[in-house]
Amino acid sequence: MENFLKKHFLCRNCFSLYLEKHVPSYSCLKTFHAKPNECYFCLNYFSEIPGFIEMIMSKLENYEGNSFNISSIIPKIMLFREEEFISRFNLYPKMSIKTALNLKISNLLREKTNLESTHGKPDLYITVNFIKRDVEVKAAPLFIKGRYLKLVRGLLQTKNFRNSSSLPSVEELITTPLINHFNASKSKFHGVGREDVDARMLGNGRPFVVELLDPKKRKVDLDKIEKEINKYGKGKIQVLNLTFSSRDEMRRLKALSPKLKKVYRVVVAVEEGVSCKDLEKIEGTLKNCVIKQKTPTRVLSHRTDKVRFKKIYDIRAKKISNNELELIILSEGGLYIKEFVNGDEGRTTPSLLDVLKKKVKFLELDVVYVAENIGSGLERLKGGY
Ligand SMILES: [Zn+2]
Repeated sequence: MENFLKKHFLCRNCFSLYLEKHVPSYSCLKTFHAKPNECYFCLNYFSEIPGFIEMIMSKLENYEGNSFNISSIIPKIMLFREEEFISRFNLYPKMSIKTALNLKISNLLREKTNLESTHGKPDLYITVNFIKRDVEVKAAPLFIKGRYLKLVRGLLQTKNFRNSSSLPSVEELITTPLINHFNASKSKFHGVGREDVDARMLGNGRPFVVELLDPKKRKVDLDKIEKEINKYGKGKIQVLNLTFSSRDEMRRLKALSPKLKKVYRVVVAVEEGVSCKDLEKIEGTLKNCVIKQKTPTRVLSHRTDKVRFKKIYDIRAKKISNNELELIILSEGGLYIKEFVNGDEGRTTPSLLDVLKKKVKFLELDVVYVAENIGSGLERLKGGY
């Protein structure tokens, strides 16, 4: 040990971590080293901490939050030296140097700010890079949930990267005000299911969660933003019940999506005309019917080809003109409505075409209700659509 200490200088911090119990006092080291040298273990990083604190403080000016967590990046040589020393002298430190560095930074930062340090779920993640002599502050993501109504056709749900379509999206209309107010770097939009671009989403709206990445602001009035989104998206979309959520809740909601029952309103053209018998046939045959659907031809290029079974719990048919009828369908989520109308060349059975044996043409679709549980009949749907 004496030879080791003659060869290698240790700073006070590292000395107290490793040798306090084994060497009488720090001043013993002075007999080996006339002048303080670079610390063999921490490369003098302990003495550099005040400088890093200044850097962190200036970055924190842009952030809101109550708690933080510190991590650090140190050169591998420090870990090697530490391990080598431990195995050579069989001396175990109170904590590793990396942990001691993090702890010292945390303590100083707590003294200088009102922030709490936590290992749980902090608002702010602070990384001190001792190698690059830099610090990084990142805010934990925020999750905001709500329901959206899509009042017009021709709006995509999410920004489309597959074909650089210029159609606007529900996502953009909702996330633009959110990103601005929370000063986030970007956002991810998680819809609980989706409707086709040409379908409206009415009634009580579709649940969604927006994940905001690196939001510098966290204390934002959601009621105010809700109003602003509704102003920004006026005539196109509307949002309801914006509240703070979490990653766990987002996962739960997304997993729930296929189980959510939906009520659809469909308008269909019948070339040969609609008769009263047609309406009876539809309601008589299709209520409580399970529809077998192979993946629709129109989405086959980007979805797996498989068979789905979706139950129709209830269906109402109404003649709206000599050649047009309106269907209100309560079914399991995920029923492909256009294919249910035209049969998709036999890939969906039974279809409206099979039942009516008349030439039918899909005209328009609205999702009028999305619910966890609205029973099995349309009469239970209170408030209409
Ligand atoms: Zn040291």
